[in-house]
Amino acid sequence: MKTRKILLNENEIPEKWYNIVADMPNKPLPPLNPGTLEPIGPEALAPLFPMELIKQEVTNEKWVDIPDEVRHLYSIWRPTPMFRAYGLEKALDTPAKIYYKYEGVSPSGSHKPNTALPQAYYSKQEGIKKITTETGAGQWGSALAFACNLFDIECEVYMVRLSYDHKPYRKIMMNTWGAKVLPSPSNATAVGRKILAQDPNTTGSLGIAISEAIEVAAASEDTKYALGSVLNHVKLHQTIIGQEAIKQMEKAGDMPDIVIAPFGGGSNFAGLAFPFLRLNFEEGKNIRCIASEPTSCPKLTRGVFRYDFGDTAGMTPLLPMYTLGHQFIPAPIHAGGLRYHGAGVIVSQLLRDNLIEARAHDNLEVFEAGVLFAKSEGIIPAPEATHGIATVIAEAKKCKEEGVSKTILFNLCGHGNFDMKAYEDYFAGNIVKHELSEEEIQASIALLDTPEIPE
Ligand SMILES: *Cc1c(COP(=O)(O)O)cnc(C)c1O
Repeated sequence: MKTRKILLNENEIPEKWYNIVADMPNKPLPPLNPGTLEPIGPEALAPLFPMELIKQEVTNEKWVDIPDEVRHLYSIWRPTPMFRAYGLEKALDTPAKIYYKYEGVSPSGSHKPNTALPQAYYSKQEGIKKITTETGAGQWGSALAFACNLFDIECEVYMVRLSYDHKPYRKIMMNTWGAKVLPSPSNATAVGRKILAQDPNTTGSLGIAISEAIEVAAASEDTKYALGSVLNHVKLHQTIIGQEAIKQMEKAGDMPDIVIAPFGGGSNFAGLAFPFLRLNFEEGKNIRCIASEPTSCPKLTRGVFRYDFGDTAGMTPLLPMYTLGHQFIPAPIHAGGLRYHGAGVIVSQLLRDNLIEARAHDNLEVFEAGVLFAKSEGIIPAPEATHGIATVIAEAKKCKEEGVSKTILFNLCGHGNFDMKAYEDYFAGNIVKHELSEEEIQASIALLDTPEIPE
């Protein structure tokens, strides 16, 4: 029998996280204080994040030890399986060999618990009693609720009103793990009350929800705030995905020519791709790593590289990144996890240095890809993950046209079992092609008065 599933043992869960900054030819530029435009030090982040995570945010050490207790709890669902996608290869009639790493086996259904768990662990170590956060599509809120529960930490989630109303089961999932979920904007914060006074029927936004969660965390000593993407320490934690994947590819007697992952703020892409980029840096390999984003939120393929705020309200430090401008409002597409206006700092620098690539796919194309995958492989992918699948299909078709066999590995970063509304809309013909005009992009970027970065 041909092996379809490539598995590892529990004792093969990585012992360290890989910090790509140590190997980057050009280090990321420093974050700036928006008032003085001077580089900020780690202490500026202390009101919001536990000290250990701040250290990881700025470290240049190449390897960071994973605490034993975190590894032990990772073993609830890790190592995650890798599959050879025989069904998809057949459906595409391609000479390419396609593999995928499946992160949907985690308790909340995506890669996000890989970082939620250590974030809750370090918070507990430092005596934190409560963690606040925002959630859009619900994946991050669920992951953090799961992790906080393991460490007996209170979890308070500000969930964008629109998805609070549209995804009731994500909310119940968080409640089951003991988290308090508030529709954002809420009456619990000054920011929320102000916005509700202006418009009681607002559907909210991620930017507003971030502002509410930060307000609550900044107001008390024993409460911190947690982010599920974008930041360096989040990417660091995700690198267990790629480290496991390298072992699994070796077990399969293969090595990818191309590594692909969907891209929101960059954490699942970083998680799979960075350990393979290490092989490029250390062993001179030439593994191509491609990030896949929606054409309706194309910061990597059509954004500018400059300093910008991480949130809509302009409360964060200025970060050097590919961005569409922090006031960019993406269309309400279903891949909620990919609607962020900017890209993480490390990934942005790698793209700027041509060490990674990016592609954009429209909404209709990704649902076609997702349904083809569900039919040929069985697993229904999260709407975010379908962007990566669209890139895989394009590369596999190219292999067929050129008559060459390449090995492609992608990140199936979550299942779509809570996203049936999205699939329902697709089947009803309500998903349409959406591409931003150059005017729309230029208008959003023109609102930026943050520092430009010279070539
Ligand atoms: C949050 C999320 C994403 C996007 O975030 P990244 O940090 O870019 O990984 C993608 N896929 C799924 C399933 C998610 O939950």
